[in-house]
Amino acid sequence: MNERILVVEDERQMLRLLGMTLEKEGYRIVAAQTAAAARAQIQAAVPDVVILDVMLPDTSGLDLCRELRQHPATSAVPILMLSAMGQVSDKVAGLKAGADEYVVKPIDSVELVARVGSLLERSRRLRGQARAEPATVVSFLGSKGGVGTTTTLVNVAACLTLEGKRAIAVELRPELGQLQTLLGLSTGDSTRTLFSLEPARIQSTSVSAWIVRHSSGVQVLPAPLGIQPDAHFEPAQAMALVAALKELADVVLLDLPPCPRPETEVAIASSDIVLLNMEPTRLGLESAAALAAYAKAHARPAAKLLVVIINRAPLATPVGVRQIEERLGWVVVGGIPPAPDECARAQQLGAPVVQAAPDSTASQAFKALAQGLLRLTPQA
Ligand code: CA
Repeated sequence: MNERILVVEDERQMLRLLGMTLEKEGYRIVAAQTAAAARAQIQAAVPDVVILDVMLPDTSGLDLCRELRQHPATSAVPILMLSAMGQVSDKVAGLKAGADEYVVKPIDSVELVARVGSLLERSRRLRGQARAEPATVVSFLGSKGGVGTTTTLVNVAACLTLEGKRAIAVELRPELGQLQTLLGLSTGDSTRTLFSLEPARIQSTSVSAWIVRHSSGVQVLPAPLGIQPDAHFEPAQAMALVAALKELADVVLLDLPPCPRPETEVAIASSDIVLLNMEPTRLGLESAAALAAYAKAHARPAAKLLVVIINRAPLATPVGVRQIEERLGWVVVGGIPPAPDECARAQQLGAPVVQAAPDSTASQAFKALAQGLLRLTPQA
């Protein structure tokens, strides 16, 4: 078992007492005497339980508690608050800040051990339930450079987030990132650092530290900006990443490069849905047919193979839905109308189109597409 408990307490004597009591029960103890030290410990590895004193030298324990609740990596970690204050109003403040339990000093060690045990039991049960409803993985492929695949992915992720789903938009294109530009983020080199890790170290706890939450609520794992000539990752790393992301989300949206690479094939093989984005032109159809054959060769037999038609400009004679479905043998699940002004405005704001221009026809189309995908996911 050996669950890790982070104890955040500035008083040395209390820290020692708590540590000794819990170590006797077989738990591993990590100590932090300030909120800043606690953040660093959590960044290194998310603990199984946090014991948090209300009075800390740098930040109030209540504020740190709220902070942990807001962060996706720690939102579900059980928190036990410690306080010298025994008033009902203090306890309410602790619980309102997101604590699961509240223990008043002086600590009764039997009570403490019992409460920690029940918190761990509860989180084990919750994790078991989470596993019963596996996340859906959707791979996004663009049939030809620059059809708007990343834009579609970001907007579908935003719509799913609005529906209350935990959606993570992941850019598996380590050679050239666009997500950060699209969303006005500047978070350095998330996937680049991740892919320097051994596959065994790519786990939900380490991955969650790289996930960025955009102001729209969308969670993203972006690739580094600018061209990275040697950037690639191993199939085993891609497999570990997808497995880790499935523990953190209801829907994982993977932005894949259109070129045949071993790690792309692993991602396709891990997907429940493969979404091919294409322009309704002759060239678009030919390029989509080639990519569809490639994707189908690597997709699981049960995977749903779908097409989204992206109209970047009004066309006099677009290739029709029936022709596309006949040629590819894939079902067309949605179509995005031309929206150059809305896309430009969204980029200027660093926001998804559905946030920047929520009433536009493009936004309606993104919402309809997200709804269509949700109907195909098991937990919808
Ligand atoms: Ca204290």
